[in-house]
Amino acid sequence: MSLETRKRYIERCPRCSQCKWLPAPKSQRFASVCPSIQYGNFHSYSAGGKGFTAYAMLENRIGYSAEMLRSVFACTMCGACDTSCKTNFGDNIEPLDTLYELRARVVRDGKSLPAHVELIDNLRRVGNPFGKPSQERARWAEGLNLKDITKQRADVFLHIGCTPAYDEAEWRSLQFCAELLKNAKVDFGVAGNAEQSSGGLAFDLGFQEDARRLAEASAKLVVASGAKTLVTCCAESYAAFKNGFPRLGVSLGGLRVLHITEYLDELIRDGRLKPRSSANALVTYHDPCKLGRLSETYTPWQGEWRRVLNVMYIAVPPRPVLYGTEGNYDAPRRLLQSIAGVEVVEMERSREYSYCCGAGGGAKEAYPDFAEKTAGDRLTEAEATGASVMVTACATCQRHLSAVANKQGSKLRVKGLLEMLCEAVV
Ligand code: SF4
Ligand code: SF4
Repeated sequence: MSLETRKRYIERCPRCSQCKWLPAPKSQRFASVCPSIQYGNFHSYSAGGKGFTAYAMLENRIGYSAEMLRSVFACTMCGACDTSCKTNFGDNIEPLDTLYELRARVVRDGKSLPAHVELIDNLRRVGNPFGKPSQERARWAEGLNLKDITKQRADVFLHIGCTPAYDEAEWRSLQFCAELLKNAKVDFGVAGNAEQSSGGLAFDLGFQEDARRLAEASAKLVVASGAKTLVTCCAESYAAFKNGFPRLGVSLGGLRVLHITEYLDELIRDGRLKPRSSANALVTYHDPCKLGRLSETYTPWQGEWRRVLNVMYIAVPPRPVLYGTEGNYDAPRRLLQSIAGVEVVEMERSREYSYCCGAGGGAKEAYPDFAEKTAGDRLTEAEATGASVMVTACATCQRHLSAVANKQGSKLRVKGLLEMLCEAVV
């Protein structure tokens, strides 16, 4: 695709501003869905506004400026705008697709932000955005004697992901998870230091060729392993495998793709794992964008738009519309509820309308004040539920929310779902 192909979609946008709001908010306080407009407080920061920026670029009416780039990149690529827009317009406008192509155009024009170029340089050099040595990727698994899936066949390819692999705070949960799988007699293996980023971050930053190269390398590793199921511990990779790879034309050979929360949920429901001890806590669950609305399976579509009744367009043949409702929402909640003593209370914005934590899309690296404000707003919403613990199933969300909670002196404890299970299953 290209930005030019988005023109006809942008033209259909009537500037209704639904992309800024929940379709059916429960309160004025938490009615916004878009962290970008909450930060920039100017229409250009909304998805509709970014669409018109793109249109003006295509018409050669505007050039690049620091403020224009700020409106494009102070955005977490969370996709809540897209879900809200679709409640009124289905797939007629799809603002998130325009955001992807707008960023790709900025990259093509050599106007990327220095913070993003640094992330990409790291991905090119060592296969992770942090610039950490690739030979340290599997340090978390030292001494566990796990099967190396690049040398031995296994039923399940356990994919780890960059943030869990390099964040030492995640290692205990990963090790626990590996033990759980062993106890449940799952035949699984890991790729160790051969694993690298699945390309989701590169795609979000607009570096689509880097994303394709990383996706192809990941797919090659997974397909060559002969595994039947791909289970990932990384929310960003989960979204990349299900949504990003098909966008880039990269195939995983029809493999079943699951997030670790879905796989553990299946093992518990099959009676192969049993959470035993109690946690006694009122918790609220934060739906990560990448595990929820952004993880719906993307199906490439070849067809045409037909104008009907002079005002509407219909897709011929019809294509599946991603409304955000088919994300991984139930498995994490079931896992939490499987822990005796845990009561789950919902935030006002949850499931497909979850409010972003602020860390995604390169926002944390480029505009840390924006990322912190967004996390602060999400923590306020979690505090309003009365919960003492906020649980999430994405290491990036957890790391960011936890850092901001500490900095802002929040009483809320932010925990990973695997960490919660780790404490509950002895
Ligand atoms: S992008 Fe969608 S929701 Fe936003 S202003 Fe345009 S039509 Fe309305
Ligand atoms: S992707 Fe998220 S932050 Fe960006 S415009 Fe859409 S709702 Fe706002």
